[in-house]
Amino acid sequence: MQFIDLKTQQQRIADDIEARLKAVLAHGRYIMGPEVTELEERLADYVGVRHCIGVSSGTDALLVALLALDIGPGDEVITSPFTFVATAEIIALIGAVPRFVDIDPLTYNIDPALIAAAIGPKTRAIMPVSLYGQCADMGAINAIADRHGLPVIEDGAQSFGATYRGRRSCGLSTIGCTSFFPSKPLGGYGDGGACFTDDDQLATRMRQTMNHGQDERYSHPRLGINGRLDAMQAAVLLCKLGIFPDEVERRAAVGARYTDLLLGSGAKSLAEARDGLLTPHIAEHNSSVYAQYTVQADERDAITAALNARGIPTAVHYPIPLNRQGAYARFCCPDCTPNADRAAARVFSLPMHPYLSAEDAQAVVAAIAEQH
Ligand SMILES: *Cc1c(COP(=O)(O)O)cnc(C)c1O
Repeated sequence: MQFIDLKTQQQRIADDIEARLKAVLAHGRYIMGPEVTELEERLADYVGVRHCIGVSSGTDALLVALLALDIGPGDEVITSPFTFVATAEIIALIGAVPRFVDIDPLTYNIDPALIAAAIGPKTRAIMPVSLYGQCADMGAINAIADRHGLPVIEDGAQSFGATYRGRRSCGLSTIGCTSFFPSKPLGGYGDGGACFTDDDQLATRMRQTMNHGQDERYSHPRLGINGRLDAMQAAVLLCKLGIFPDEVERRAAVGARYTDLLLGSGAKSLAEARDGLLTPHIAEHNSSVYAQYTVQADERDAITAALNARGIPTAVHYPIPLNRQGAYARFCCPDCTPNADRAAARVFSLPMHPYLSAEDAQAVVAAIAEQH
């Protein structure tokens, strides 16, 4: 069994991919080619915002967003300690300080109730992460940000296609950022990412920032980077976007099937219990794209070892909160995020992709049931 199956999807769109890649080879505009503009228009439409700017990765999307907001040395950005490292990395890399605020134990996303206390005179932005495919509580976060005049950057690298109160991830705040890393819900065949916004001025700044801060050739009003999305990746993503709505539905169905099977085998809902095997909690105003299907158990290591021995791969996202990592410990008291600590010690993710069969889901749950 595979943790993520990209082959089945590739077979489904093989002809389309070949045609699209041949078209790029024929026109030869590998950088800023027409596929990039076409993809940006379709993605902006899908998310429901005015502007999409294709960039070279999810990490660079976050960097472009921060640079376009003129955030830099000495500034503070509030974020989650329970995320992939890129979120905090990019804050620290521009000389700013990541201020880690603990997570909600049910959704694993930053707890809005704890944000106000972390806001100080140096706070310049709030960067929630929509982890495992479920949006952070963006309404509550936007309300706090509005009171303090702060922009909100959603790290939607894992949540592209998810909805919050009926609106799509990456279109819920000042800027939304996503990643097209191959294993993400919308993945390319290499690195890629995008920034989304409804703000015309910010869109112009981000477009310049990702292309060496250039407004026209050899004119550089802003500091920028080489952060462009290339035409080959855009071509691949255009093919994948055609089947993406269907894949989002399949992901939801696979997630729901796992939850039903697990609850039927004696697991409890994370919203109802603290111990035993606990299934994910999707807030009622959210739909998840299940970038990961992540459960919790006290005896995580024994369960994952037993699954792995049967050829069922598992992963831990993430075993160490960022405020306990060497590179970031200087920014935060290590003991101030107990919910992140508890999650890091207990979570593990099951094989998850749109084409996971009912038989495979049953085999995974049967193997877990023997252990707990
Ligand atoms: C994958 C990921 C990123 C980084 O995206 P890349 O395209 O790999 O640079 C950032 N944040 C989160 C939460 C991610 O999962």
